[in-house]
Amino acid sequence: MELHNFNSGPSILPQQVLDQAAAAIHNFNNTGLSILEIGHRTSHFMEVVQEAQETVKRLMGLGDDYEVLFLQGGATMQFMQVPMNLLDENGLAAICDNGVWGNKAVKEANLFGPVKVVADTSDKKHTYLKKDLELPASTTYLHITTNNTVEGTQWHSYPQVNVPLVGDMSSDIFCRPTPFHEFDLIYAGAQKNMGAAGVTLVVVKKSILGKTNRAIPAILNYQKHIDAGSLMNTPPVFAIYVSLLTLRWIEQEGGLAEMEKRNNEKANLLYNTIDELPAFYCPIAKEDRSIMNAVFFLTDPNREADFLVLCKEKGMIGVKGYRTVGGIRVSMYNALPLSSVKAFCELMKSFAEKN
Ligand SMILES: *Cc1c(COP(=O)(O)O)cnc(C)c1O
Repeated sequence: MELHNFNSGPSILPQQVLDQAAAAIHNFNNTGLSILEIGHRTSHFMEVVQEAQETVKRLMGLGDDYEVLFLQGGATMQFMQVPMNLLDENGLAAICDNGVWGNKAVKEANLFGPVKVVADTSDKKHTYLKKDLELPASTTYLHITTNNTVEGTQWHSYPQVNVPLVGDMSSDIFCRPTPFHEFDLIYAGAQKNMGAAGVTLVVVKKSILGKTNRAIPAILNYQKHIDAGSLMNTPPVFAIYVSLLTLRWIEQEGGLAEMEKRNNEKANLLYNTIDELPAFYCPIAKEDRSIMNAVFFLTDPNREADFLVLCKEKGMIGVKGYRTVGGIRVSMYNALPLSSVKAFCELMKSFAEKN
């Protein structure tokens, strides 16, 4: 049976990336050694890091005022590493709490300085985004989650503010052309749209660093990672390599404009199908719907279990909603083919007809 991988993360990767990664485990770039066996300070691996950094900057259209780092600890570590490096008692972190991940960013920032939640959308179960933000005068930076992976909302244009903007782009990085220059710090766990688990991309504008008086442990200090060329200690060699392969694939396929075309086509097909079928409904405000993660429900919640059984029978992987949200979540990252969304929509239609 053909499988359709709608996993929310770790998630589907291009077949070409899997093939190349598998080959490199046996023989990396004709070195006769596995990518798992080479030293991280050899020229072979330094070239991988350099090419990955350059490709990120090219895709983002960013210049030398930004640095690209490949760190560990997941996006979750960034919830604390960002305030540890940017915030102190004299400043304030303004944070949009639009769901599970933004909420974690709030909790961690609280450990390092004053925090103000400038948007809290829990009144409507995070089914929309609040965009008119009022920032206190002492605001050091504004933090947003560009795509709410769990709740299914996505910022389609970003807040225009005169303080540094920090974006958790874990689940929509490189899904379309993006004004990356509007951000001063971007981070993303690689395992959703950019590669394998184990590495986190951090892109930071150098001018925002060095402004707190706090002593920062070296391993958590962005500036020290920059000084060390993202090679302070042994980095996650294989995960970085898989990210490089995925970044190459994005460029080969036509770059971010092509990703956007494909992602819009998939998302439009799915949301149109949901909106047309009375058996399903999507509670997310239309203008805020995510093109990466569609969250929706069965009109009759008693039918949900049957629908999930059918999904399993038909090879639809990973479509059960997040445990605190319930319902259905269909993740449509860059590597997911349109044919998978078509197959899923056909399944929804036949389920709706039978009931
Ligand atoms: C998955 C996710 C995270 C957590 O990522 P980890 O790499 O598991 O720490 C954080 N933010 C967003 C938006 C996510 O989708």
